[in-house]
Parts: sequence; structure tokens; C-alpha cells
Amino acid sequence: MSTATGLISVDEAQRIVLERAKRLDPERVPIERAAGRVLAEPVAALVDLPPFPSSAMDGYALRSADTADPPTRLPIVARIAAGSPADRRLAPGEAMAISTGGAVPEGADAVVPLELVEESDDAIDVPEPVAQGANVRERAGDVSAGDIVLEPGARLGPAQVAALAAAGVSEVQCSKRPRVGILVTGSELRQPGEPLGAGEIYESNGVLLATALQLAGAVPAQLGVVADDADEHERAMERALLGFDMLITSGGASVGPHDLVRATQAKLRVEELFWGVSVKPGKPVAFGVRRDHLVFNLPGNPVSVLVTFELFVRPAVNVLLGVPDPLPEYRSAILASAVKRNPHRDEYVRATRRREGDAVVVEPLPGRESHMIASAARADALVAVAAGDGELAAGEEIRYIAIA
Ligand code: AMP
Ligand code: MG
Repeated sequence: MSTATGLISVDEAQRIVLERAKRLDPERVPIERAAGRVLAEPVAALVDLPPFPSSAMDGYALRSADTADPPTRLPIVARIAAGSPADRRLAPGEAMAISTGGAVPEGADAVVPLELVEESDDAIDVPEPVAQGANVRERAGDVSAGDIVLEPGARLGPAQVAALAAAGVSEVQCSKRPRVGILVTGSELRQPGEPLGAGEIYESNGVLLATALQLAGAVPAQLGVVADDADEHERAMERALLGFDMLITSGGASVGPHDLVRATQAKLRVEELFWGVSVKPGKPVAFGVRRDHLVFNLPGNPVSVLVTFELFVRPAVNVLLGVPDPLPEYRSAILASAVKRNPHRDEYVRATRRREGDAVVVEPLPGRESHMIASAARADALVAVAAGDGELAAGEEIRYIAIA
């Protein structure tokens, strides 16, 4: 759906990206290297969890029935540590000392904690009845061998990899990590550490994108900086279009005489699917494909890169990774101070968020221009301000994307 300005909407652009992005093939990965990846198969537990009835406390294993008529004195016939089970069953009238995680011996059905009994001369005095099952972690109480621990689409974070390890699983099938080439354009760009000549600025989009991609679960490769020269563009892009799942360019995607990216790509048979989205910052963003290779042309201004990454590139990375819900998650919050709307384009306004009681309050930051990366560095939220007249008023409920 085209807007009055001839640009497509953010939703439409996202729809086009999601239509072309495909999950990558799975590969086997050790769980230590699976952080942030997405399962491509259901994973079943290889063992019962816990694998045996185990003690939840340091104390004494006994038979609940023996404590029904207190006080009870029971001889300690063995001492069980975690990893060292007793070598025989517990007979009626006996107790065994046991540590947390120790295997509750056959014959015992309860553990009385250390601090509730008196030990003397290798026996305990139990002052109160101990309920059946007290402080015993049931075998398979968490999950049974053969049961599914995690479903396909599960994103592997700390709890998920720990569950796999506990269930005896050391390797899983995950979608491959997207390999993403980053090609930066601009004759004015120097690397930090070098001296700046007249008219030059430091290059910041390469490291921005590499960092964002890495945190998103992709494998970035910085392919260098290309001068605003047609032959250099063609050489660099020809190489950049090989060997990656996705290519991201920065700069040179607008309408100036030195904006060569789109013309070069057209020569290299990249099919452009959109150029120009009704969003601020980020209007000149373009997206195309060459076979199953996705190509994003992001604008040069760093804040435009930040915003278009969140709106279009991250969702694509999510699809390639196999994340079931790839689009940005909008959260709601209360706006701390008024924001004027842009009459033509949806705007994403940098803001900081804070807790006030149960509510989250977002405070728009000064500096809404797209070159102001230093002001963006203080932001942890992008407030979505729909195009229109007037303003979003202080105290209104708004939607935002968390960016930190
Ligand atoms: P462009 O889209 O190439 O016209 O660039 C728009 C603005 O962003 C210009 O002011 C550029 O100097 C600036 N810019 C382009 N690329 C970068 C970059 N990699 N790092 C920092 N600023 C950039
Ligand atoms: Mg440029």
C-alpha cells in the first residue's frame, strides 16, 4: 500500500522482507556454542530428571512410618554423599545420613533435615513425625526420559541450554547462523585512529552493523569501505554478493550524483523489491534479492542505520535463524513529555525509559536528526510516533521498541 508521498509503509516493507527471507538449513551444534540459536528439531530427554529419587536437604533418610510415634531413636547405618549412594537398602528402624543431591536409598521414603534432629553416638533422635515424601525429590519429577524438553523454534538461552545439559543432551540441530557481509560506502570516511582530513568524518556504520548483527545471532563480515566511484562499487559489490546469506550496504542509496549503490546493483542483477519507506529516519532504505541472497541498502546516516536495522534487517535475521516471531516487539509505556508528529512519515524517536511504580515511562531525548549518533547512544528505546498532525501528549500511552 503506497502512501500519499509515494513511499511504502513500514508494515508493507516488512511484509516484503518476510516474504523473501527463508530459514537457513539446520546444522549440528554443541550446546556450548548454541547461545541465541533456534532449535530446528524437538529434543527429548535422554534420562529421567532427576535420574533417581534424591534428597532436597542435608539430613537423614528414613521411613516415615518409623516416626509416627515420637520421640523416635534410629541408628545411623550409612552415610550417603552426592555421587556416593548407599550399598544396601534401608531396613525398618534405620536411618542413613544423606547430603543434598544424595540418592535416597531404597526402603526410605522421607528425609528429615539436619537441624530438626539430634545426632549422638551414631543415632538420631527424631522429635516429630516426618511426612511421607518429605524432602525427597521424586525420580522424573521434572521430566521423564523420552519426553520433549524443548520444541522446534525454541531460542537457546541460559535456561534452555542448562535444561538440555541436565537431560543428557550435548548436541542439537539448530538453524545455521546467517552470514552477513557489510559493505560501507563513502569517500569521506576514515577509520577511528587515523587523522581526519578536510571534509572527512569517522566511519561508524560498519562497527554499528557488525555489533548489531552479532548480538542478533548472525555472523558479520566487514568487507571494507568503498569510495564513491562506479568501478570501485562494481568490483566490491560483485565480491560482496558471493558467499553470504545477506549483504548490507551503508550509504549511497539516495538520489545524489555520488549515490551509486542501487545503479551498481541493478547492473549486477539484484532485483530491487522496494526503495523508499515512509519512516523517519531511514526513508531511502532499499531491499532486493539476487536468487536467495537478501540485500539491504541502508542510508548513510548512523541513526537511520540503527532504526532501519531494527525495523527491517533484524526481522530478516530472525527469519533466517528460525525465530518464530521475527518482527519487532512493541511494548507500551507512558510518554513523559510531548512529541510533535511528523505530518508525512512515521517516526521513531530516541528515548530513555525508567520505572515509575508499576509503569514504564519513556522520556524522548533531544536531538532527532539522523546524523546524531552520540545522542542516540543514550537511548534505550525507540518511540513509534505515527504520522499525522499535532503531537503525542505527555502522559499518553505510547508504543516503543526496546533497543538495549
Ligand atoms: P549517504 O547516504 O551516503 O548520502 O550519507 C548520508 C550521511 O551519512 C552523510 O552525511 C555521510 O557522510 C554520512 N555517512 C555515510 N556513511 C557513513 C558511515 N559509514 N559512518 C558515518 N557516517 C556516514
Ligand atoms: Mg555517501
